[in-house]
Amino acid sequence: MRVLVCGGAGYIGSHMVRRLIRAGHTPVVFDNMSTGHAWALKEAFMGAEEKGITPVAVEGDVLNLQALETLFDNHEFDAVMHFSARSLVSESVEKPELYYHGILVGSLNLLAVANRAKIDNFIFSSTASVYGTPECMPIEENCLTKPITPYGHATKMVEMILEDYAQAHGLKSVALRYFNAAGADPEGGLGELHEPETHLIPNVLRAILGQTPPLEIFGNDYPTPDGTCIRDYVYVNDVADAHLLALEKLAGQSERGFTAYNIGSGRGFSVLEVMAAAERVTGQWVPYKFAHRRAGDPPVLVAAAEKARKELGWSPQLPILDEIIRTAWNFMNSRAA
Ligand code: UDP
Repeated sequence: MRVLVCGGAGYIGSHMVRRLIRAGHTPVVFDNMSTGHAWALKEAFMGAEEKGITPVAVEGDVLNLQALETLFDNHEFDAVMHFSARSLVSESVEKPELYYHGILVGSLNLLAVANRAKIDNFIFSSTASVYGTPECMPIEENCLTKPITPYGHATKMVEMILEDYAQAHGLKSVALRYFNAAGADPEGGLGELHEPETHLIPNVLRAILGQTPPLEIFGNDYPTPDGTCIRDYVYVNDVADAHLLALEKLAGQSERGFTAYNIGSGRGFSVLEVMAAAERVTGQWVPYKFAHRRAGDPPVLVAAAEKARKELGWSPQLPILDEIIRTAWNFMNSRAA
């Protein structure tokens, strides 16, 4: 299939592009390169030629409707994967306008051109943030979605839009509610690299390498066993695989509809447990200090992912936190070399 991958030069997007090529699909990447990397795309495209696949990269912004129209005039697609959005919870609290505008307008633009081109398979990168501070744990998809941040609100709104597009325009769509994507493809060349970095695992590893000041642990007074936040870390290639399975499901589905799936490992680790795992993997201490809570962080987010297992046939291939961290560590050392 020819798959438009919006945001394909980013962390999860570039892993997706490599996986699409491995599976024999042709990715067309559309990315404004604001946080994506040209080197990641180059790495992700490697090996395509031997498979007879010609991947395409187009620089452009989903906020630019005209650029999207030109893209759709020049290419044909069977499906759209939408990774193009900011996804930092605390930044969204500080700059709600950026998040509402980017997520809502970007998604509406993309849906408008896809609808006009009669492309009815759409996979959206959603988030555990749609649940806010959940009342049920682990979180099932039918738990109340009551976001507590602009990022969560805007993403939930896109899910609602997708549902309405199913009714109005016959769209078939899936929202994958990621928990905490982590790790790097063991084949090398791809991994998580943001500037500035805000995510826990790369920040822990950077602190170990002495590339940054000691790790700041945001809050040690949460209602959790050790007082630090608990998250569900899910391997980035497993996240990408969920998209491949969703793509197959949508392609084989004749009726319109919208479905949301949790993509998480089902196991939660506190910040201190993540640090301990990183110390086991690297054999080095993590320099750290306790800091204030970060805006928008709920105490615990752990997925129940049975629905994805049952309906998509998805199961994490790398569910062990230490092994996930090891892939991130290998990537980080390869960049430093
Ligand atoms: N965190 C931390 N120090 C950091 C980065 C993150 O204590 O330098 C905590 C953060 O408060 C949250 C957890 O680690 O409880 C995971 O944060 P991350 O930014 O990786 O993902 P999020 O859950 O916000 O999507």
